[in-house]
Amino acid sequence: MELKAEIIAVGTELLLGDILNTNARFLSQQLSLLGLDVYYQEVVGDNPDRMKEVICRAVDRSDVVVLSGGLGPTDDDLTKEMVAQYFELPLIFHEEIMEEMTQYLHGNVPPANKKQAYIPEGAKIIHNSYGTAPGILLERGGKIVILLPGPPRELEPLFLEQVKPYLRAKSDFVMKSKVIRLFGSGESAIAQKVKDLMESANPTLAPYAKDSEVTLRITAKAHTEEEADGCIAKMYEQVADRVGEYIYGFDDDEMKIVVCRMLKERGLTIATAESCTAGMLSSMIADIPGASAVLFESVVTYSNEAKEKYLGVRHETLEQFGAVSPQTAQEMAEGIRRASGADFGIGITGIAGPDGGTPEKPVGLVYLAVAYAGKTVVKELNLYGSRRKVRYASCLHALNEVRKILKSA
Ligand code: AMP
Ligand code: MG
Repeated sequence: MELKAEIIAVGTELLLGDILNTNARFLSQQLSLLGLDVYYQEVVGDNPDRMKEVICRAVDRSDVVVLSGGLGPTDDDLTKEMVAQYFELPLIFHEEIMEEMTQYLHGNVPPANKKQAYIPEGAKIIHNSYGTAPGILLERGGKIVILLPGPPRELEPLFLEQVKPYLRAKSDFVMKSKVIRLFGSGESAIAQKVKDLMESANPTLAPYAKDSEVTLRITAKAHTEEEADGCIAKMYEQVADRVGEYIYGFDDDEMKIVVCRMLKERGLTIATAESCTAGMLSSMIADIPGASAVLFESVVTYSNEAKEKYLGVRHETLEQFGAVSPQTAQEMAEGIRRASGADFGIGITGIAGPDGGTPEKPVGLVYLAVAYAGKTVVKELNLYGSRRKVRYASCLHALNEVRKILKSA
């Protein structure tokens, strides 16, 4: 059976924008993974009438309703009371909850907290060892209503430990996804090539552009994990057929992780000579644990003098072609490779903007050189966007060039 799920986050502080509704995000992700169809997310303040209205509509149109927040000891915490009223259930006092609270609070339960020991008749208690408010699980008239305390450090473990196994048994489906990471082509160009595949209802294929990269997410819903995996594999084959040349990784494997892994596997090292990126590339490599096995050295040569002094870039090259030129990038890459003894030498020089551009050399013009095994590849990049974006994209391009060389080697 397909279960329709709905999330209601309760709390006036959410409506005022004082806190971010991270519970909705967590619950949506979790419910989707369980194969439930999440059709609605709502936020309602600590107001009895509006809460009742939202509960009424949710129970009416959804099979599973998960409410977060409003289970605290204060008078504005009303979620449990409103749910009990809606189902016309009395609230029953539970001595064991009182005992649990006494334990959690080391003996001193403030009088106001006593209200948390009342549970709607017939409901299951979600015992809470992370706080004082227990969660509640109620099955009524074919509907499932779940109440969880608002603090994420309570809601998240309670969901994972107690609600998830319960819902898994109720749901006949699982949902799985695979993220394909691409570099070197824009979102619209990629989307155009897989346009017809994006019309598929199961598995779905959705593009997403972020930080100069494109990702494609395949999501499959099936009765078993194996069936979902098979479904994803078939779609992946078709995607790889169309845009395989741009695929560099999957799921959480960022470009810097992929490239560092490849270098490590082959026992190769890298050294960078950075002008406009000023160490960003080596910093990205250093983000990866164990980077010392691959990152040899890095110099930031912002001025022409530094390029000559540390990298041996020729004075005539700088005079004749300028600091932002393919010739300078090449001499930077070869210079750092020679000076460091690393396997790969990278040179990056460009105009990050927003000022400093000319008609001949506009903002976003970057030259990138990769020296490896006696050969140097030089690339001209025409990037756009903010200063940060131009610098970041330059680093990604540099890593991608190294990856391409390693792949074909
Ligand atoms: P409550 O259970 O309503 O007393 O909420 C207690 C605390 O949990 C709030 O003060 C927030 O800090 C946090 N909280 C409540 N709802 C959410 C939510 N939807 N997302 C993230 N944090 C929340
Ligand atoms: Mg509240």
